[in-house]
Amino acid sequence: MINGRLRDTSLIVNLDALRHNIQEQKKALPENSRILAVVKANAYGNGLIPVANAALNGGANGLCVAILDEALELRDNGIEALTLVLGITPVEYAVIAAEAGVSLTVGSLDWLEQYHQLAQVVKPQKPLKVHLGIDSGMGRIGFTDISTFKQAVALLNNPEFEFEGMFTHFATADSPDATYFDHQVQCWQKFVASIDHLPPYVHMANSATGLWHQETITANTIRMGISMYGQNPSGHDLKLTLDLQPVSSLVSSIAFVKKLKAGRSVSYGATYTAAKDEWLATLPIGYADGYPRCMTGYKVLVDGQFCEIAGRVCMDQMMIRLPKYYPVGTPVVLMGKSGEKEITANDLAEQAGTINYEILTNISNRVHRVYQ
Ligand code: PLP
Repeated sequence: MINGRLRDTSLIVNLDALRHNIQEQKKALPENSRILAVVKANAYGNGLIPVANAALNGGANGLCVAILDEALELRDNGIEALTLVLGITPVEYAVIAAEAGVSLTVGSLDWLEQYHQLAQVVKPQKPLKVHLGIDSGMGRIGFTDISTFKQAVALLNNPEFEFEGMFTHFATADSPDATYFDHQVQCWQKFVASIDHLPPYVHMANSATGLWHQETITANTIRMGISMYGQNPSGHDLKLTLDLQPVSSLVSSIAFVKKLKAGRSVSYGATYTAAKDEWLATLPIGYADGYPRCMTGYKVLVDGQFCEIAGRVCMDQMMIRLPKYYPVGTPVVLMGKSGEKEITANDLAEQAGTINYEILTNISNRVHRVYQ
């Protein structure tokens, strides 16, 4: 994987803002609540290891990833905090998780039975830490009926298992209409009430629940994802209830500048033609860096002013129209603040017809990350 250190395009990651956001969420929760920092997908594009370390020293009690490889990367980098894999891991790899002390999500009795049998043969050195996933309405993974869930809990009494947690995930916690959310909460509460001894980690809340449904949290742990990165999970739909600071800014600089004569066209398809003589700059960033190709005609910030993207965004470069001459090396902000103006991840998402999560996670590994 090539990391573009020798060009002026970077993702600036403000780890103080990340720590601030964790503390903001902590203040709003009952005392002794725990936060699992969600660092899957390269910490939402911000860089797994630096973000995981910052989250843990900023007050998070553990980490969530999507796949076992991400968890092992944390262990390889000396991070031993509780690490939960949120997706389903194939049973044949679960022994690796047990040996590494990584916690796995289990969503079916069948999976547990298979591991139970495997463990009689392989005899893992350590018990496998298990969080049972409850499907209260997300329809993705997890137990949907209480009797099977209770059989799973009983099976976890075997020595090859450690029943560490149970959790659910909400589909609409970021919606102004709480009807479906409430239905999920009721379902979840039935599962919680169905067993005599709860595991140490009981978690239901994602960022949106931590922001807009704090009163409903019947659990001792929240999984903080997008809000930790200072982003609003609802896009522009609901107002933030915490003082969150954006963590990531995407910046570049002018690599080439020229006077474009009236009538000359720019980029693939020649879709942009200068109406009059104008200053045109080329930036060393394109869609292979995760900046969406569909942003033609959108804007970036130069010296506190919005500048239009001229013509199609190319794979590695893009052109912008300048209000006046600016020299090579002039900073350009694609996401973040310049002077009084700002382009947020939500703004980019709205323009690209997606969500801020996708904007962040799409920023490719070629973009050099700079930590502040
Ligand atoms: N929990 C689970 C199971 C998830 O899949 C995710 C993210 O997709 C999260 C928590 C974090 O969600 P958010 O970023 O909305 O806080």
